[in-house]
Amino acid sequence: MEKEALYYQTPYVKEFDAEVLSCEASGDKYLVELSVHGFYPEGGGQEADKGTIGDAVLTDVQEKAVKDPESGEKLCDEKGNAIVRILHTVDRALETGKTYHCVIDWERRMRNSRNHSGEHIVSGLVHRHYGYNNVGFHMSDVMTIDFDGALTWEQLMEIEKEANAVVLENRPVRELWPDEAELQDIDYRSKKALSGDVRLVDLGGADLCACCGTHVMTTGEIGAIKILSVLGHKGGVRVELFCGTDALSDYAGKHEQLLELSHMLSVAPSEVKDAVKQTMDQSFQKDRRIAEINQKYYALKAEMMKDFTGVLVDVEEGMNNVELRKCCDYFMKNTKASVIGVFGQKDSVKVKGDTASEWNYVIGSETVDVRNMAKTFNAEVNGRGGGQKEMIQGSASCTEEELRRAMNEVFS
Ligand SMILES: [Zn+2]
Repeated sequence: MEKEALYYQTPYVKEFDAEVLSCEASGDKYLVELSVHGFYPEGGGQEADKGTIGDAVLTDVQEKAVKDPESGEKLCDEKGNAIVRILHTVDRALETGKTYHCVIDWERRMRNSRNHSGEHIVSGLVHRHYGYNNVGFHMSDVMTIDFDGALTWEQLMEIEKEANAVVLENRPVRELWPDEAELQDIDYRSKKALSGDVRLVDLGGADLCACCGTHVMTTGEIGAIKILSVLGHKGGVRVELFCGTDALSDYAGKHEQLLELSHMLSVAPSEVKDAVKQTMDQSFQKDRRIAEINQKYYALKAEMMKDFTGVLVDVEEGMNNVELRKCCDYFMKNTKASVIGVFGQKDSVKVKGDTASEWNYVIGSETVDVRNMAKTFNAEVNGRGGGQKEMIQGSASCTEEELRRAMNEVFS
């Protein structure tokens, strides 16, 4: 941990000048070391800063430990701090010894700082109330925290309320660099045993944690903390949350959706849930009614063909697979046909210049093992599918005439 880094000493400096100490090619990019460390390197679950160095675009910053060339072990200074090189990935070569003006992508930095600070408050409060530890933290499109104990949604909503109260009180965020002796007497949250300089971050009394990330200067700057979901994860839970502008964008997006739904359903936004439930109930009733009508339709058709023997081919429009199967099943039980093929037409398509159709099929028989003939039948109708010896189902691509011919040739 580099106490002298600009992002610790003067955290709200957005631009600075730095001399290029080295520049080496790496694939089609260049790795640059700077005299001033103002860009935050990836670490502690927080992504690296982006920005520009002169005209070069900075896409990544990584901390690389310096190792002893003989033993291969990581080297440390007299205080126990790992000796590192901070490598900035840029899109063009920079001149060693020259000073460049550096600009941090501030919107991105602040987004990360807000999310990171909000994460501290939530983790600190969970630890205080339930004793669970933050054992994994990730920031990308959405931020996640893994806790080593179970939390219910209701418990998390209480934590969210308390965390937002800390935000509203706009408490100061302080950083402390205690020496080894002082550190012994401080009760702080930390993921691992630490050596060298330790930086503690105090989030307005809601959390005290060893951390290398960037933070806001007062809790009010976090803006808002919104927990999105909780799922069981490795014996504990994984919590998704948004802070600041991310929470606002999320709210705006969801509100737009709610307004669209409210227009579609012609009800007030507060009545959307009830209206959706009512629509689902109506849809369920309609499905039941359609099933009843279909049942009568199958019965009528079967009655018409009750004395039919041989291979029965029935072509239907607009039936889904479940309906095709029920229809075939009905014919099997109520006709004398040896084999029954029920075909539902999908969209018409052109195949090899001829007008052909896409079909879903169900073929059944109580006397013939239809599974045995599935391969031959599929070859005849550009189809695929299979199933049990009493019933197979699949799809075919051919004309109706070809379909009828294949049924008679294969199953007669
Ligand atoms: Zn932090």
